[in-house]
Amino acid sequence: MTRVVLSIGSNVGDRLTRLQSVVDALGDSVRAVSPIYETDAWGGVEQGPFLNAVLIADDPDRDCHDWLRWGQELEQAADRVRGQRWGPRTLDVDIVTCHDGDTEVRSATAELTLPHPYAHLRAFVLMPWLVADPAATLTVADTTRPISLWLEDLDPAERSGVRLTDLTLHTEPAAD
Ligand code: ATP
Ligand code: CA
Ligand code: CA
Repeated sequence: MTRVVLSIGSNVGDRLTRLQSVVDALGDSVRAVSPIYETDAWGGVEQGPFLNAVLIADDPDRDCHDWLRWGQELEQAADRVRGQRWGPRTLDVDIVTCHDGDTEVRSATAELTLPHPYAHLRAFVLMPWLVADPAATLTVADTTRPISLWLEDLDPAERSGVRLTDLTLHTEPAAD
């Protein structure tokens, strides 16, 4: 059984529909869904604002690499074109953390780095994650802290660039 925290974002096309497509693909695996935030683009490339959210999901059969491939398939289904680093995209699905049972999986390969190496620097990850799981912690270089503390360390301008919207992601009621 793995449990993942996913950061999802879109700034091209029908952004809300793209984010909803990820929730729909999770189906019964979804455990928590954050509100949707509108976010100034991160990383210095001039582009339109993103919609971002965080999802928490588990699955008895998938391992952490399976989650990565699963997210990449959804990006491809959204016709994502790989161009500039941190550039515009129809859909981005990042694995923020992955637990296998009670153990947090650590990985340091280029293909899969866990926890995500920039999560603690991104208000657009930490703010929705805090709502989806107020007790969440994040480990950076062997320091484990509540994500609320990582968030407090960020520049206020970083936090104010992440704005709560009244858009919502819908989960299907579980079938009987
Ligand atoms: P960033 O990872 O800084 O948010 P990005 O999302 O724009 O940047 P992508 O172009 O979507 O980067 O992905 C580049 C590669 O990152 C992918 O091929 C994937 O294998 C790798 N990768 C490594 N760790 C992760 C992770 N935790 N989640 C998603 N992709 C990852
Ligand atoms: Ca990303
Ligand atoms: Ca990505």
